[in-house]
Amino acid sequence: MSPHFTLDEARALDMHDPLRAFRERFILPEEIVYLDGNSLGALPARSAARLREAVENEWGRGLIRSWNLHDWIGAPQRAGALIAPLIGAKASEVVVADSTSQNLFKLIVSAIRAAGGRGAVLTEAGNFPTDLYIAEGAVGLFGDCTLKVVPTDDLPAAIDDDVAVLVLTHVHYKTGARHDMAALTAAAQAKGALVIWDLSHSAGAIAVDLNGCNADMAIGCGYKYLNGGPGAPAFLFVAERHQLHLSPATTGWMGHAAPFQFRDDYQPAPGISRFLCGTPPVIALAALEESLGIFAEVDQVLLADKSALMCDLLIALVEERCAGFGFELITPRNPAARGSHVSFAHDEAHAICQALIARGVIGDFRAPDVLRFGCTPLYCGFEDIWRAVDTLQMVMATRAWDSPEHQLRQRVT
Ligand SMILES: *Cc1c(COP(=O)(O)O)cnc(C)c1O
Repeated sequence: MSPHFTLDEARALDMHDPLRAFRERFILPEEIVYLDGNSLGALPARSAARLREAVENEWGRGLIRSWNLHDWIGAPQRAGALIAPLIGAKASEVVVADSTSQNLFKLIVSAIRAAGGRGAVLTEAGNFPTDLYIAEGAVGLFGDCTLKVVPTDDLPAAIDDDVAVLVLTHVHYKTGARHDMAALTAAAQAKGALVIWDLSHSAGAIAVDLNGCNADMAIGCGYKYLNGGPGAPAFLFVAERHQLHLSPATTGWMGHAAPFQFRDDYQPAPGISRFLCGTPPVIALAALEESLGIFAEVDQVLLADKSALMCDLLIALVEERCAGFGFELITPRNPAARGSHVSFAHDEAHAICQALIARGVIGDFRAPDVLRFGCTPLYCGFEDIWRAVDTLQMVMATRAWDSPEHQLRQRVT
């Protein structure tokens, strides 16, 4: 990358971007540079109309008939089938349900039960908080089970004959570091353990090949890169070979083999649907399906390539234009070793983030000292990256962050 990368050069990259047209499929305020799609994806242009249709026509006019008439009942599997090609899975291996946290709970409990006496759930220190909390809660249900939380570098050595399941987040929410899914899956399986991958910061932005890695199970988020809307339902993956011998932790009627026979006894559905629990959130699923329809048109290789290039550009520009301002890059430089966000540690990260937001550049802050920029390849462009760093340089050079209003911490950061 040449020094003094200019706005014109960024615009030229956008002009030649094969995914350029997808930006029009989203509604983004003109004045905003949105680098937080890894936390809450943008609103697809057609989602509002789709939601209106789901509410006014399907619910309002169709009423209860819409379970069949508009196949509401099939939405969890339909959405799962749309996610499958994004994560290297078969349609019959993915279903949309509940939240990421709940899906993790369901799969950890199933994995512990299937492990026949193995007594440990293994994860890494610094994993996303809900993953740690859920793992702690799940092992607490079993008298003889413990949670082992080890530093990342110690993971391979910590996989021993006592580990029932290894729980890892593919792309780290703070650093953006990406685990070697194939290698860690193979290492765990060699010791007889299962692995659950959390794809919350991967699906929809970078290449994921679950079956290529012989993955066992995975979960992921619907409202980040998948743009399903705030609190969108999440997904889960269980490899075909495991579906029949894993017993669901939440034995609700939607996971029953025949829910509408209203039998007294529980009989799990023969496939991925056994991991459903209660009635699907139909309106939220309509928004997610609408968004996933966009991905069906996107070349996944182009998406991953653009993600890598955007992150490269962001790193190069910050290092060029913000040198001497105290930013420490904590994201790997090698695109194959990271996800689609770039993070810097800085003592004033919170105030800097607030000053950026006040100037229309939305990234986010992760306590205690991380400034994080999500590069969503589907609707962000190279000009966005250039503008974000231009604003960052100005905020730093003028010390605009150093003002009382940027110290205020809100409930959600
Ligand atoms: C965003 C995220 C979640 C979200 O879980 P919810 O149940 O939707 O709150 C879980 N795990 C990881 C790694 C995440 O990044």
